[in-house]
Formats: sequence, C-alpha cells, structure tokens
Amino acid sequence: MSLFDWQQSLLQCPFDGSDVIVADRAAQCVRCERTFPVQDGIVRFVVPDLEHLQDPDEWRWKQSEMEARNEQASFYDRLIGLMILTPLEGPMTVKALFPDTQCVPLLAEIGCGTGRMLVRLASRAQKVIGVDISFESLRKCRERLQAAGKRDYLLVHADASFLPLKSASVDAVASCQMIEHLPSDRMRRKAVQEMTRLLKVGGRFALSGYHWSWLVRWFGPKEGVHKGGIYYYRFTRDEFLSLIPSEIKTEKLTSIAGYAWLVSGVKVRGQSG
Ligand SMILES: [Zn+2]
Repeated sequence: MSLFDWQQSLLQCPFDGSDVIVADRAAQCVRCERTFPVQDGIVRFVVPDLEHLQDPDEWRWKQSEMEARNEQASFYDRLIGLMILTPLEGPMTVKALFPDTQCVPLLAEIGCGTGRMLVRLASRAQKVIGVDISFESLRKCRERLQAAGKRDYLLVHADASFLPLKSASVDAVASCQMIEHLPSDRMRRKAVQEMTRLLKVGGRFALSGYHWSWLVRWFGPKEGVHKGGIYYYRFTRDEFLSLIPSEIKTEKLTSIAGYAWLVSGVKVRGQSG
C-alpha cells in the first residue's frame, strides 16, 4: 500500500526535519538517509534512534507505555471510565476546537490511540492525521475510521515530542488526554511546542489532560503509574496553562467533570527560531 501525494507531502524526518520519500515498504529521509518502515499504510517513525534524543528515564517510560497501549488496543474502548467519560468529553472537545459549525481542510490529533476522539473530530475536517506511539492502537483507529466512512486519513506511528510532520501544515490540532502520560516536564513542553509548530497561523488548538482536582485526589496521587506501566501526571490549573506557548492565544479553559482540563485557543503568530 503506498501513500498518496498529499500524505507524503506532510511528512518529514523527526531527526532533522528534511523531506522523506515514501515507498511501499519504507520511507527514507533525503538528508540523514534513515529509513522508517511502512506497514499497513502507516509510516513508523518510532525507531530505536529516538532513544538518543531523550534521557534514559524518559525513554524507558515511553517504551513501557507503548507496550501497555499495544496490549490494551483490543479492549481499550470498553474500559468503564472511558465509556462514562467519552460521551461528555467528545462533544466538549469538538465544541472547544470548533466553537462554530466550521469544517476545516486538515486536522491532526496527537495521541489518537484507537480513535475514540478522532472519529468524532473527523466530522469537522475533510482530511485527518492521527499520530500515536502505539502501532496496535493505530491499526484499531484505521478500522474505526474506515467503518465511519472516512477515507482521507493519514496515520503516523510517532513520538509526540518529535513529530514527523511539516510546520504550519494543519488547520486544527487536538490532543486529548495524552499529555499527562509524557514522562517529564521537558517532554510535555516539547510535545505542546510540536503541536503548535504544525498549526498554520489562525489554526485552532485544543488540549486536554488530567486535572489535579479535589475530586481525583480521593483516587490517587498527583503523579504516578497506572496498571500496566503507564506514567501519569495530574496538572493544577496554573501548571496546565503554563504548557501553552505564547503563539497560542488561549480562549477558554474548562474542566471535564473534574477529571481533565480542556483548553482551547488559536495560533496568533508564527514561531520564532
Ligand atoms: Zn533525517
């Protein structure tokens, strides 16, 4: 299965930002000549070299999450917490990202997992990109997009802190409860900067992540590890707002049932440097 021109034109090497040429079985960077496997139409940018861009703890936690998510991919959507939360979170996220009835040409979701939100967000975009660190989740996501009749999608296996996508290429970017699983403040900030980099000026932005509310204090600590080895961090209001780079003008911050923060905004200027 080969990629379409529009899909290939969005991709770049996560190491040096150069173009990649996509063939049937692999993509290759035109500068560093690293190759990235292509499997089931998904380009796999999570390669061992990424380890060298992170510290050993960061990489270890990400590996641990990747394994847990791959194992969970077949039953993730039936987890009881998500079955309760998604009917509330879905419409809130769509509304935060698109306050009016607009539909955009291209939307990206970073940390799309099995697609529980992407399939909803896709109703407001002609084309969608889904990025996740779990390949098995992406395969589930593809089935779900196909079942929903969505044909123009690009799924990318990548690390949120090193996105293999071109700058200023998308009209809307969302990330739903992914950011709390990145294992350091440095990686969390880098991921939000990467999401911002993808956006065109004027593009829409929405980010949600665990809320350190009075409610959830009953259930667990501020920072910890879920079953299966998935790291998490719960944010205070100030911590969550501090993740947003100055290029994004924040419009609204709400809490989804005391469980997650949801912030939305618009990119008002390009990034310097
Ligand atoms: Zn390269």
